[in-house]
Amino acid sequence: MEERLVKAQQALEKHGIKTRIVATAEEAKQIILEEVQAGQKVGIGGSCTIEALDVVPELMAKGCPVYWHWRGKTPAEVMELRRSQLTSDVFLASSNAVTEDGQLVNVDGMGNRVAAMIFGPSKVILVCGQNKVVPNLEAALDRIHNVAAPQNAKRLNTGTPCGATGQCNDCNSPERMCRVTTIIERCPHKTDLKVILVQEDLGY
Ligand code: SF4
Repeated sequence: MEERLVKAQQALEKHGIKTRIVATAEEAKQIILEEVQAGQKVGIGGSCTIEALDVVPELMAKGCPVYWHWRGKTPAEVMELRRSQLTSDVFLASSNAVTEDGQLVNVDGMGNRVAAMIFGPSKVILVCGQNKVVPNLEAALDRIHNVAAPQNAKRLNTGTPCGATGQCNDCNSPERMCRVTTIIERCPHKTDLKVILVQEDLGY
């Protein structure tokens, strides 16, 4: 097992965040299915990682209403799904970066994803590929702005400079994706926050 994943796990555990390391995305999916009880409301943040797990059909088969704005059909429905995530029983997402010293670092455009990670759902499960693990906060912010955001910009065709150059220039574009930055330094009070580190690259 990679030493840096173990370091991150130990640091997160020290910060009150239950953390498991698994070999494959499939194992992460099975943990989610064990953690979510039949009929519980499940919110999903914007996450290519969770999308890759393809866990929604099994959740729905367990009778779980799923609130995932990527599946909304109209702007009004998309916004309603975002709001419903905040009052779900279980919230699923990834983290843009996980530091070896035990921080979860995220940058959001609207804020629904980071808000639900911190308060609202009583259980939060973050699935993070090994590619998200970095040494420290500086490296986390660098990864988010110069690795994750440019790929997101391309996927969403935002027209922000990072999509064209692959690098952040701290733009002031109306389409700027980087509007809210959160650093989870300890498990938030009253939230059962779990991290699953996967020994595969997942999302970006
Ligand atoms: S601040 Fe602008 S240029 Fe920098 S990563 Fe965010 S959207 Fe891209």
